[in-house]
Amino acid sequence: MNKTGSLIVISGPSGVGKSTLIGRVRQNMPELEFSISCTTRAPRTGEQHGREYYFLTQEEFAAREARGEFIETAGVFAHRYGTLKSEVMERINRGSSVLLDIDVQGALSIRKAAEADPNIAACVSFILIAPPDLPALEKRLRSRATDAEEQILRRLGAAKSELSHFRAYDFMIVNDDLEKAAQALEELLKSLQNRVSLIKEELFQ
Ligand code: ADP
Ligand code: 5GP
Repeated sequence: MNKTGSLIVISGPSGVGKSTLIGRVRQNMPELEFSISCTTRAPRTGEQHGREYYFLTQEEFAAREARGEFIETAGVFAHRYGTLKSEVMERINRGSSVLLDIDVQGALSIRKAAEADPNIAACVSFILIAPPDLPALEKRLRSRATDAEEQILRRLGAAKSELSHFRAYDFMIVNDDLEKAAQALEELLKSLQNRVSLIKEELFQ
């Protein structure tokens, strides 16, 4: 059957566990492709250019933006982040499923693009990863130990208003128990491959 790929937007507040969950699910579903974003923030210990992100200077980011290379961009906590067309479009046309790990602003701007373009609407799904409660989110941001206190407070402050947009999503997974949440995400991603809107040809004629 001739099918288009899926664009799967996974978002939620910083520290909720998006990258942990995506890492888990990709171990069992290696066919899922991941869109590596650009960012102007500095790499954290262990992060590699071209693996977690493409780490760019402000000037490099602005130049790529001016050339129209991004599907969406957002300013997140004083840094720029953006999804590259080159990470997404060709893979979807080839029939692959592409995961985006982006913030809520980015998800909302892709939602807007989907409302204007039926080709995007046919293949995109929006999944919100939510924390069980705000204290649990704070604990995770602190346990990750990658951000300065000021960054942690900014990220927590943003979380409440980000979560208020939950109705803009198609699905929500609460990341309480990691194993259960990873399993729920995996099952959801498998089900999404059966969307009728992904079928390109007419059937049973
Ligand atoms: P995000 O990508 O959403 O910013 P991370 O995947 O970096 O978040 O997770 C933030 C921190 O929370 C990490 O230290 C991670 O190990 C931890 N974490 C993720 N999921 C859970 C969970 N279900 N229970 C407890 N800690 C978790
Ligand atoms: P971090 O700095 O913790 O890696 O990411 C901060 C936030 O930026 C996370 O919520 C992450 O999902 C988001 N993010 C990462 N890449 C992109 C992107 O390309 N676009 C947008 N809009 N957000 C992104």
